[in-house]
Amino acid sequence: MKVNTENCIGCGFCARDCPVDAVSLVKKKAVINDHWCTHCGVCLRVCESEAILAGEDRPRDSIECDACPIKCWINDGQVGACHRYRNEDGHLVRLTPLHSFEDVLQTVGPEPREVIRRPVTTAIGSGTTYPDCKPAPHIVRENRQGVDVVTVVTEVPLSYSSIIVKVDTDIPLGREGDRIYVGKREVGMVETEQYGSKMLHIGGVNRLTGKNGFIVARTVTEIANRKPVKLKIENGPRLVVRVGGPPVIDGEAGAKMRVGCGSATMGLFAPLLVEAADEVIILDSHITGQMSRHVAGQYARAKPTGILLKFDESTPGRYFGDHGGGWGGTSIIDPIDIIGSVDAKIAWNGMTVLITETTGQNGKLYEWGADHQFKEIPMSDKARLALEAISNSCEPSRVSAIYIAGAGGSARAGVTKFPIKLTRAVHAAKAQLTVGGSPGYVLPGGGITFMVDVERVKEGSFYWTPTPATICPLEYTMELKDYEEMGGHVEAMKPFKARKPR
Ligand code: SF4
Ligand code: SF4
Repeated sequence: MKVNTENCIGCGFCARDCPVDAVSLVKKKAVINDHWCTHCGVCLRVCESEAILAGEDRPRDSIECDACPIKCWINDGQVGACHRYRNEDGHLVRLTPLHSFEDVLQTVGPEPREVIRRPVTTAIGSGTTYPDCKPAPHIVRENRQGVDVVTVVTEVPLSYSSIIVKVDTDIPLGREGDRIYVGKREVGMVETEQYGSKMLHIGGVNRLTGKNGFIVARTVTEIANRKPVKLKIENGPRLVVRVGGPPVIDGEAGAKMRVGCGSATMGLFAPLLVEAADEVIILDSHITGQMSRHVAGQYARAKPTGILLKFDESTPGRYFGDHGGGWGGTSIIDPIDIIGSVDAKIAWNGMTVLITETTGQNGKLYEWGADHQFKEIPMSDKARLALEAISNSCEPSRVSAIYIAGAGGSARAGVTKFPIKLTRAVHAAKAQLTVGGSPGYVLPGGGITFMVDVERVKEGSFYWTPTPATICPLEYTMELKDYEEMGGHVEAMKPFKARKPR
């Protein structure tokens, strides 16, 4: 990397973002330490003044790392941009040794003992005692493998509660931060999307205690109980979500979840794709992949085609996409429009280009002609085979949901006279929290804020009350000695008698 000092305005963005501190500012001009520089290209991307120049040859004593698409050039004694690999006398060495589970045991922390992993009974159908300082409705005891175990259960009303709905689809569901409505009432917002999924957050204490609280509580509960719920997203579609089924987006049922991003799809199917066409482009709003420039394509012996795409290239053959109503959730409506330029000195007459999405559901094949234009041609058998391979590897588009709530407040009084001791026991894995028998994940830090997959809780077990709050079946299971130590309501404890099945 070189600096064109005439263009450099001394803003320091390159020095701030260089991962190996190879850039410094001298007299308000960037200066690059060539020996430290890994040629990662970060400075090139952050410089807004076009003052960084790339393109020199790799230093003779450097090693090209192939652990990621950046392909750092690492000089002797130096580390790569990720700080994991170092060039030690001409060998790339992973700096952190491979860790055994024992090495990390202390960090991972304790697990609950086998005897307390399952509740003696669930809280489904248990009812609620009010006020909270009364003992919980059922405190039951059982001897397991010689150990006395206690489970305390309540159907607990929780005003700090919400549901995170995961919709496995590439179809845009609005922008992050967009409001979500039931009818005209705001019930949630669109969250940061996850890999192949859009995330909707419905509920939360501020909405539950706001003017739309009843409909918010009802919506969270209905989704948790796997009922179909109609939603409208501010800058997005109308949709119907039902946990366990496909989303219905503007009247159409979602079909497939993508197999991976455009780059991952390239990595998965490059040997097939290289047979399907001379160039393959996989449109994706996250990372759009281009075979001939992608490492996987080159590994599968794809030839250069001279094609460059319109999107910004992150690393060779991996382009940051955009969002819209077109192919792969991008703004590209006519797929051929993704091609930004073709170097006619490299492209050849009859060169074929297959454009598809990460689900392989749509595909078009084009041919580059003597007139230097692309024309669409019928899909070949090999191209169809490749699209089918992608499509058949996709999971169905589906809705799932995580209920999240805080039970670290007054509800603890039904369990123990010393609520802080229950919180500590939960975090120390001495008291196991379950929801309808399903293990909850307790968030770190203070309080008892937990999450549970609603599909692991018996259907119809969530309720709501006009306080407003959602009601969740919650169990704490622990050894009797720990329950006594925390000041539990042992006077209300009873041996567990299983009810005869109806
Ligand atoms: S290419 Fe990477 S390592 Fe080299 S100076 Fe730029 S940011 Fe630093
Ligand atoms: S980011 Fe560009 S303009 Fe800013 S200091 Fe670095 S080279 Fe100069």
